[in-house]
Amino acid sequence: MRRVEGKIALITGAARGIGLAIAQLLASEGATVILSDINDELGAKSEREVAGNSEYQHLDVAVEAEWQALTDEIERKYGHLDIVINNAGITGFLETSGPHDPENLDLASWHHVHTTNLDGVALGCKYGIRLMKASDRASIVNISSRSGLVGIPAAVAYASSKAAVRNHTKSVALYCAEKGYPIRCNSIHPGAILTPLWDAMLGEGEQKEAAIKGIAADVPLKVMGTPEDVAYAALYLASDESKYVTGIELNVDGGILAGSVAAPSK
Ligand code: NAD
Repeated sequence: MRRVEGKIALITGAARGIGLAIAQLLASEGATVILSDINDELGAKSEREVAGNSEYQHLDVAVEAEWQALTDEIERKYGHLDIVINNAGITGFLETSGPHDPENLDLASWHHVHTTNLDGVALGCKYGIRLMKASDRASIVNISSRSGLVGIPAAVAYASSKAAVRNHTKSVALYCAEKGYPIRCNSIHPGAILTPLWDAMLGEGEQKEAAIKGIAADVPLKVMGTPEDVAYAALYLASDESKYVTGIELNVDGGILAGSVAAPSK
């Protein structure tokens, strides 16, 4: 028996990076996977890279009408959902004009980041719960960030939105438990995972290689993580192996959050 055999899973922001790795792993462990994204060209290509039962659907996580339409379609086709991975997220560095520091922040850019990262997760929980009540055992996994647990002076909207995702996850977990719904909800906090999200911060060619080395040097495990590192955490939380786990935050960050970068002198 594979680890999520027979489960129906919806993953947002699944055209690339962490979302795609989660889609590939859940499908290989027996789930039927609905990949969704706003990048339809890449999404359709990525769907072909997922071995097993999968389909690609357009979904802008910030648009409620799109959640309504897609979950209506999933209900017609499958009757319910067992897994929702609220993964879509942006830093705002490429998608908005910024700036993103506390003193000079641009309010429209701040709102844009929150609309995607926070509203998107809140809507994913709202429409997920509706279809998950009909499941035997369901799980919502919200992808927050290390940046939701510590201050990030150069990316305040990103950090604020991810902190809100962490807290919303716990409210959803307790709400579902109080209602007696068969739905758990947990957050994952990745840190320094090498994906296209970093493109705007790393540059190109030799400059990129040097930047990656510099980031890795500050990670206790001395390496940047891979999308698969996060996917295995999502698989655990999505599967019934974690049936007694709700409202937790799971760090996948090579040890960054375990302590301080400024180590005591030897
Ligand atoms: P990525 O940029 O490679 O992929 C993000 C995907 O989300 C893209 O395919 C993009 O098209 C999609 N997307 C953007 N806006 C969307 C919207 N409105 N609706 C639907 N899809 C949308 O990023 P990634 O590194 O794979 O990040 C995935 C998640 O992990 C994000 O929430 C990110 O904040 C979080 N995260 C990543 C890291 C890291 O180091 N890479 C660290 C902490 C948290």
